[in-house]
Amino acid sequence: MTSAQETGGDVRLTGISKTYGSFTAVHPLDLTVPQGSFFALLGASGCGKTTTLRMIAGLEEPSSGTVHLGDQDVTALPPYKRPVNTVFQSYALFPHLDIFENVAFGLRRRGIKSVKNQVGDMLDLVQLGEQARKKPHQLSGGQQQRVAVARALINHPKVLLLDEPLGALDLKLRRQMQLELKRIQTEVGITFVHVTHDQEEAMTMADTVAVMNGGRVEQLGAPADLYENPRTTFVANFLGTSNFIEAEIQAGAARSGDDLVLKAGDCKLTLPAARCGGPATTGGKVLVGVRPEKISLTHADDAGQIPEGRNRITGRIADSSFIGVSTQYVVHSPVCPSFEVYAQNVERDTRLVPGAEVVLHWNPAHTFGLDAAQSLL
Ligand code: ATP
Repeated sequence: MTSAQETGGDVRLTGISKTYGSFTAVHPLDLTVPQGSFFALLGASGCGKTTTLRMIAGLEEPSSGTVHLGDQDVTALPPYKRPVNTVFQSYALFPHLDIFENVAFGLRRRGIKSVKNQVGDMLDLVQLGEQARKKPHQLSGGQQQRVAVARALINHPKVLLLDEPLGALDLKLRRQMQLELKRIQTEVGITFVHVTHDQEEAMTMADTVAVMNGGRVEQLGAPADLYENPRTTFVANFLGTSNFIEAEIQAGAARSGDDLVLKAGDCKLTLPAARCGGPATTGGKVLVGVRPEKISLTHADDAGQIPEGRNRITGRIADSSFIGVSTQYVVHSPVCPSFEVYAQNVERDTRLVPGAEVVLHWNPAHTFGLDAAQSLL
């Protein structure tokens, strides 16, 4: 049998679940995290992401299923025998030890005497080489978190698990640390599994994101793919603002590369068949979604200037607010009561004020379709 230290760094969960009495925190779940990837478990509080992470770490015993690291089934192994390490939100550094000794701790515990080079390399990796002789309380929150990462990496785990590691930092530091953690992961090349409730954080850092909801993975994919092609209203709303229009398919597509033609009130809309998650047949009810920043706004008097081939709906501006890089409009339309629009790079038009009749238009390629049977909430 291979020892845990020799296994690969891909993580494979098969039918893994966790119940507490009659409550199911994680429903049976299959998930593969490829070796060397930066993987994020994303979801609101209580969705089961920490429980999933803890089952990978061995800190929580699954109610069913198996955990493989590389080729090895580690389901029955205690945490310390698994080639993984965890960084928590509370970095729990040893306050009486300096930074060097905090990082050296894991090596010394294994009886390794000559630690200088390894610790030095690790401190350089997290850019704290100059701070080696300081005590934790002399460092900023972001620096302390970097020490915690160095300490977790010193024993060369195959997989690093990160449980809301940036949760205690202020927003600016959080943003810096996101880039920093991504750089560290790229440099060491091992698998990172990162738990967060912050969609921007998951999108910034991860190669692949699993969006969790109610103990299930609702959708899995690359950040851009999830954002542009959500498959449920939950994912669409969790990863940003979406506008939804209830529509009916007027003409189905013969081939997957074709467009569907839909009707919403008096408006005709086009949806690429490949981006339709609902029933793609004539008469099918679809929720047509479009991200606010993809929408342009034109005063109704200039509607003739809108290029052919764009999806368009008419409405009236209810509210507008200038938010620096763009102006955000709320437009009421008979087909969608509160259409929210972030209009960017729009030429200043003094007529675009509350009460104005406007046309909202966008490239059909930026439209996605969901099964209208789903709840909008
Ligand atoms: P958070 O971001 O708040 O930590 P989470 O998505 O990580 O949320 P989990 O910590 O995985 O959620 O918890 C999932 C659900 O399981 C929650 O409803 C939680 O209350 C419940 N739960 C977790 N641990 C236990 C336990 N030991 N006993 C009973 N219920 C638990």
